[in-house]
Amino acid sequence: MNRHLRALAPCRAFPAAPPPALLLPLLLAPAIFPGSTAVRAQEPATRVVILGTGTPIADPDRYGPSVAVVVGEESYLVDAGAGVVRRAAAAARNGIPALAASNLKRVFITHLHTDHTVGLPDLMFTPWQNGRAAPVEVYGPPGTLRMTTNIEEAWVEDIHMRLFGLEGRSAHNYRAETREIEAGTVYDDGTVRVDAIPVDHTTWPIAFGYRFVTPDRTIVISGDARPSPSLVEACNGCDVLVHEVYSRDFFDRHRNQTYHAAAHTSTAEVAALAMEARPGLLVLYHQLYRSATDEDLIREVREAGYTGRVVSAADLDVY
Ligand SMILES: [Zn+2]
Ligand SMILES: [Zn+2]
Repeated sequence: MNRHLRALAPCRAFPAAPPPALLLPLLLAPAIFPGSTAVRAQEPATRVVILGTGTPIADPDRYGPSVAVVVGEESYLVDAGAGVVRRAAAAARNGIPALAASNLKRVFITHLHTDHTVGLPDLMFTPWQNGRAAPVEVYGPPGTLRMTTNIEEAWVEDIHMRLFGLEGRSAHNYRAETREIEAGTVYDDGTVRVDAIPVDHTTWPIAFGYRFVTPDRTIVISGDARPSPSLVEACNGCDVLVHEVYSRDFFDRHRNQTYHAAAHTSTAEVAALAMEARPGLLVLYHQLYRSATDEDLIREVREAGYTGRVVSAADLDVY
């Protein structure tokens, strides 16, 4: 399968052949004809691009957690895990130009754990050197401004060299326009509305999931969360629920892992949550496999009684 089709083939973890109804609109997606009105009636204008599914475990096949919602030529990132700009560039090369480095204009941070934010300097500086026309907008919980301010300070020698050395850059588009947010609607550009959903994640005072309401789809992304009723309410029949997960079977063999119960959502718990939330598609991401496989995660979700559509995401999958 060539690289482009790989990007458009999201159904790796379906137990059987992917439903044609899912693949057809993806194959007609605007990545191929970005300006075409001929396909616009059939295209899913909104796509969910999984940039990274990884955890703090340094798995070379799974970059740090980051998800992009793409609507036409605009991209809306959730989290900035390790390698976020390279992964976005790979998606752009696969036919989604909204994810080219120069087009990475905004990111919504779920919480300030390092695995979700270690790519922030990358997201600030690399697109600057790739011609981004404005500073990056960063939305996140309290503490985000301190983080982006300190990132600018940490790279002050580089910034000075690029602005006043031989490169002679004039624009200050490395900067982060940072907005610390509260729960509720945090962004609305007339096409896409973004709601911050408070979720429970260990003892973080504030951690968010996000809901994206676009012209054709509603997408909820959990961030890091133990089972949170707010996500059920936010989804409530949404088109796509992207939810973190860890293997129940692994946890059952290691019952002393109280951290995971407080921080994250098991396969059995995500099944119960999805039965209430009723998404059109449940996408498992930020998977803590330990010894489990994607097939194990799907099986565990099924064994817990969930009968809806569910996939276990890989980096660069598109839904
Ligand atoms: Zn976390
Ligand atoms: Zn995490």
